[in-house]
Amino acid sequence: MRSVLTPPGRPALNKPTLILGSTGSIGQQTLDLIREPQSGLAAVGLAARGSWQEVARQVEEFRPPWVSLTDPDAAEELQRAVPAGTKVFSGPDATLELIEAADFEIAIHGIVGAAGLEPTLAVLDKGADLGLANKESLVIAGEIVMERARQRGATILPVDSEHSAVFQCLRGEDPSRIRRVHLTASGGPFRTKTAAEIAAASPKEALAHPNWDMGPRVTIGSATLMNKALEVIELHHLFGLDRAKIHVAVHPQSIVHSMVEFVDGSVMAQLGPPDMRGPIHFALHHPDRGQSNLQGFSFDLFQNLTFEAPDLERFPALELGFRCVDEGGATGAMLNAADEVAVEAFLDGAITLPEIPSIAASALDAGANQSGATLETLRAADDFARNHAREAVLALGGTT
Ligand code: MG
Repeated sequence: MRSVLTPPGRPALNKPTLILGSTGSIGQQTLDLIREPQSGLAAVGLAARGSWQEVARQVEEFRPPWVSLTDPDAAEELQRAVPAGTKVFSGPDATLELIEAADFEIAIHGIVGAAGLEPTLAVLDKGADLGLANKESLVIAGEIVMERARQRGATILPVDSEHSAVFQCLRGEDPSRIRRVHLTASGGPFRTKTAAEIAAASPKEALAHPNWDMGPRVTIGSATLMNKALEVIELHHLFGLDRAKIHVAVHPQSIVHSMVEFVDGSVMAQLGPPDMRGPIHFALHHPDRGQSNLQGFSFDLFQNLTFEAPDLERFPALELGFRCVDEGGATGAMLNAADEVAVEAFLDGAITLPEIPSIAASALDAGANQSGATLETLRAADDFARNHAREAVLALGGTT
């Protein structure tokens, strides 16, 4: 909230910002944006896992009053390295304690994996804006997360390039006037490869993404299109869209971040270079359009934009996302858990790339009776799918 005491023409107080996962890729890019002169933002809290030296350096630069590390030994080291008066939370609940204690208007949440769910709910409980890069929150518990946001009057600002694009295309629009959303997908490194070539792909080849620089799980997810399957589930929850209103378009250049087609046939798109700072910047400054030096239009980047239909035979993972939208309940939690186990097994060389979606599909089949109305039942479904996937990896001759 801007101070009412700020005279006209003078900059308002810096917007207090919390960064969850401050040493990860999203966290570092958020700090890059806060660091810009006249960003109008202040990092007031940093949460990380164990990289205390990196966090100590961030504290020295940004001087946040609150920091947290979930690794207690690392937190002890950090406490010694930061100025007295910096509150350091430590241990498994440190992130939640930080969220509870800190005064902030927006949290950028870049914690990776299922561990991000509780921080998501904690931020929403405070009624603050949530810049959400943690996909798993929505994939695992989309209904609970969206309901919590409604109850607390909190705004979820998607920090996933596609969902930020849809959010931006929908500003001022009536969501009931959507005909379809076109979720774009790069197609990953194997877009033009044969099924046999995909089956023979090494982890190194699968980790070489043509456009985006991301963590290993998302990158493997781009190679299988499982990442897009998870994004279909995210899209369903964020904007209340059923299967008939979600369409995936492969767009190898990753410039059109997604499109919304309205009932009158008009199609709105949001475009930009593949740079996560775009959606982070949008979330940080929402509802304003903050000034930035990020790249916009360029003939080089924008002259060749192509679209094609995804090939579900070579990329069967995509259909699993639609299946979870149809079936709801705990299916998203199971898909996510099975994929996590299978991706690790692939990276260890235990299974092939096409075995990742097979294992995930078999977990969904086996878990048909898992319901998912509460966090506890979702956790049980997650456990079930993880165990199922581990056994499937073993049955394929791998070790977990
Ligand atoms: Mg994305």
